[in-house]
Amino acid sequence: MSSYSVTFNNISKTYGDITVLDKVDLNITQNETTALVGESGSGKTTLLQIVNGLVRPTAGHVAIFDQKIDYDDLPSLRKKMGYAVQGAGLFPHMTVYENITVMAKLSGWNDEEINLRANFVIEVVDLMKELLERFPHNLSGGQQQRVSLCRAMMLNPPLLLLDEPFSALDPITKSYIHAEFEKLQKAEARTILLVTHDMEEAVKLAENIVVIQNGKIIQHGKTEDIINAPFNSYVEELLSGITS
Ligand code: ADP
Repeated sequence: MSSYSVTFNNISKTYGDITVLDKVDLNITQNETTALVGESGSGKTTLLQIVNGLVRPTAGHVAIFDQKIDYDDLPSLRKKMGYAVQGAGLFPHMTVYENITVMAKLSGWNDEEINLRANFVIEVVDLMKELLERFPHNLSGGQQQRVSLCRAMMLNPPLLLLDEPFSALDPITKSYIHAEFEKLQKAEARTILLVTHDMEEAVKLAENIVVIQNGKIIQHGKTEDIINAPFNSYVEELLSGITS
């Protein structure tokens, strides 16, 4: 097995005349967090959705844990990855507890296994137990995002895909959830691909940063290397907003 969880080989994606991703070659290191950073419309979400098969590349191929994606069997691919998006994307008609545990139930876990794992993830993200029987619309944005993280972690996937999961939160809630995110990564390290337009968040949470502009990778490296030697003025500009 290679030390990469995801390998993009010469990936392009076009919609009609529009090129959204342009010959992307990229390796995502195992058990580390890699942030995909770029301004809105640069192709970050498209690149992430290519990993879980929601988007199919026009050219090139992707390997997940050394296996090429089999588009005829996306359910088994998706069992290897958790997915959480901005706005939480919770099922509105299910309680918090049902939202967190639904995939485990569908995968045939028994109640004891489900309870044990659910309690662990709920504790790590500091979700209050009294919220478990509520419905998502009765939660704050921060609480919804915690539930979304719990749901993504429930099956203990080796790969976690996060698409701007913290963007809509106020700064104080965001800093709490960032701390829980780091706690989670310490408790059980996994490969995390984090899409964000916020370089400050990327620097705080990720060991590696990939800067994307107009569907091309501008710079990829260790976070400190990017900070110390931004490749061009675009990367410098993204870094310039960082306050801490
Ligand atoms: P980001 O996540 O960096 O904001 P996206 O990957 O969402 O960027 O989008 C990149 C570009 O691709 C945008 O210009 C967007 O309008 C375009 N795009 C994304 N999905 C589609 C689609 N299904 N059809 C046409 N254009 C799309």
